[in-house]
Amino acid sequence: MIIQNAVTCLSCGDYIFSMHRHDFVTCTCRSISVDGGQEYLRRVGAIDACVDMSWSLPDDVYNECAEVVEEAKENNRNKFGIANAVMRKLRERNRIIAEGEARVLATYNDEIMVEEADGTINRYRKVVDGVE
Ligand SMILES: [Zn+2]
Repeated sequence: MIIQNAVTCLSCGDYIFSMHRHDFVTCTCRSISVDGGQEYLRRVGAIDACVDMSWSLPDDVYNECAEVVEEAKENNRNKFGIANAVMRKLRERNRIIAEGEARVLATYNDEIMVEEADGTINRYRKVVDGVE
């Protein structure tokens, strides 16, 4: 599922996005246009002179996020409760990382490989303290 259909034009700096299937949007300098909303990513113009800012999620993750919104509404959660439910779901599905949190990319017998919050990748030896 396409979440955001957008580009940043490198000529004029505009960030433009298409909100729905027939929402054809052109930047100020008319170099690039976007279209298609969440249906498809259509680009017209200088595709080499823009940075694609689009992002998408697998359909199952997207649907699970929609389901937790329904659950939160049924449980009378306010807007923060709904936002938290979606963010927890995205984190559970490894789609967002909490601030300062490392993302575990792989685990070995006695080692883990993590992507740090700053994007660097490190390996650590597992250390078990205070075994009872
Ligand atoms: Zn432009």
